[in-house]
Amino acid sequence: MLLKKIRGIAAVFAVCAVFTWIAGSLPHFSFARNTAAQNVRFILDAGHGNPDGGAVGADGTTEAELNLAIIRKVSELLNQKSVNHILTRTDENSIFSEGETIHAKKVSDIRNRIAIAAANPAIPVISIHMNSYPSSSVQGIQVFYGEGSEEAQKLADSLQHAMNERLQPDHTKTTKTIPKNVYFFANISNPSILIECGFVSNAEELQKLKTEEYQMQLAQIIADVLTAES
Ligand SMILES: [Zn+2]
Repeated sequence: MLLKKIRGIAAVFAVCAVFTWIAGSLPHFSFARNTAAQNVRFILDAGHGNPDGGAVGADGTTEAELNLAIIRKVSELLNQKSVNHILTRTDENSIFSEGETIHAKKVSDIRNRIAIAAANPAIPVISIHMNSYPSSSVQGIQVFYGEGSEEAQKLADSLQHAMNERLQPDHTKTTKTIPKNVYFFANISNPSILIECGFVSNAEELQKLKTEEYQMQLAQIIADVLTAES
């Protein structure tokens, strides 16, 4: 029981630590990109990207590279089903457009991601991240959704259910709402899904997350649920 509770708390506190620090530092948006496209059904968002690696595992593996590997696989699977979608980033770099410092680059990166979402209103955003926690025993996949969107909640519930059933049968995780201090999600109105695919701070889970096979299992579940529900 205690462990279950700890897991829940970990997921909430660890979620997207990356984007919370920036809250309040972006008083104005300049929508640098207009990437509105035709018949887009999903926006796939791989969290972080150079120069922001996100959470880092003990062996130096960055969250950014894992997020991208998984999102690319989801993208391939959606392409196979001719499901139109856009990616916020397609390579190892974040999508910063200005700034000399890492902080400034992070700010413009988030502005650009917000602009992509704004240019494609009402299109669900599926964001992939990895978790990290001081206690290395904490592990597992946690799905979050943006509060107030029935569509997002339904998708998140289906994703969490499928993840539990197919990848973590010992877990009884249920979906949670995305904390309000996560800047990116607080500034978009799209139905929002955040999938924390695992803890890079857990050695066993990190080893799994680094394999093509496990990445494909995660991607397959995501693609299956997205195409079943939409
Ligand atoms: Zn992250």
